Amino acid sequence: RPHARNIVPIPLPEPPPLASPRECDPEVSCIIPAFNESGNITKAIEAVALELQRLGRHFEIIVVDDGSTDGCGAEAASMIDEFPVRVLRLSRNFGKENAMTAGLERAKGQAVIVIDADMQEPVSYLEVFLRQWDAGYEMVYGVRADRDDESALKRLGSHLFYQLLNRHAAVRIPAHVRDFRLMDRRVVDALLSLPERDRFMKGLYSWVGFRSLPVPVKIEPRHLGKSKFNYRRLASLALSGLTSFSDWPLRMWTGVGLAISAVAMFYAGWIALRTLLFGADVPGWATLVVAVFFLGGIQIFSIGVLGEYLGKIFVEVKGRPSHIVAEEIQGSAIGVRS
Ligand code: UDP
Ligand code: MG
Repeated sequence: RPHARNIVPIPLPEPPPLASPRECDPEVSCIIPAFNESGNITKAIEAVALELQRLGRHFEIIVVDDGSTDGCGAEAASMIDEFPVRVLRLSRNFGKENAMTAGLERAKGQAVIVIDADMQEPVSYLEVFLRQWDAGYEMVYGVRADRDDESALKRLGSHLFYQLLNRHAAVRIPAHVRDFRLMDRRVVDALLSLPERDRFMKGLYSWVGFRSLPVPVKIEPRHLGKSKFNYRRLASLALSGLTSFSDWPLRMWTGVGLAISAVAMFYAGWIALRTLLFGADVPGWATLVVAVFFLGGIQIFSIGVLGEYLGKIFVEVKGRPSHIVAEEIQGSAIGVRS
């Protein structure tokens, strides 16, 4: 399969035995962004909490309720006495990238894990992540082992996206990465120090660097409900990624303009020569019409590209926060350790 080629099979170093938990509380913060995940969220909290308890870690779970309308925030809040859960309710739906940022801002742990609420990412990987963190990796991230569960159109789209993105990007953004990952405190602080508002997280993770280890993850089918990312949202995320991490869409127009001008000059020379040798002839309206439409199209398209970047500048200049936390619900259960 074409996409399988992009996943570099990195042999995992033999993980060390699980180190004894660091003496800090909480040691691990686990962020679960949730948008209308009623029915999934309690299952996810329980699965994560039981796994982290089994691994003997001090932890907190931060559920970011990203403007849900199905009571998923209240469902999460109903678990605050049972597990160390905090619920951040955003004032509306700000999108997954901003929901994760909200979680990162509030996380207190020395390591921060991000995991989806729909249980597509098996919690058994938390053990792998934590072991590699103990071994000294500052970021351990999941990479899709395959995309077999996705439609052909989605696969083609993501393939094209990563091709375009990495064509001239200053930092390489590995293909098929997940937000599912563990980050050391240093990485989290670095991410939070980036002031931009249009937060394409997969790019930001790569941009900050640090010792990072990809782990191939077998993605499970969604527990309940369906994906929140329809084609329109995916396209807008892709555009945000492309314009945040590359400037070739802007720059290529210099090349295109130069090339078209060069062709036009040769053509002008040829017409002049032909007129001198054979005299003028009237036909040629087809060439004219084609040229007008072709150049008109290119000009409008390139102005559109300018507009994309201008729009980004506008967003940054306005300086609005990337999200607003309406409420934080917190219980008394802390530092659960088996
Ligand atoms: N999500 C979110 N805000 C949004 C859209 C999604 O917090 O606006 C969360 C969602 O609840 C889930 C995670 O992001 O926990 C991944 O979303 P989804 O499963 O729909 O994406 P997919 O797995 O299809 O990439
Ligand atoms: Mg999902």
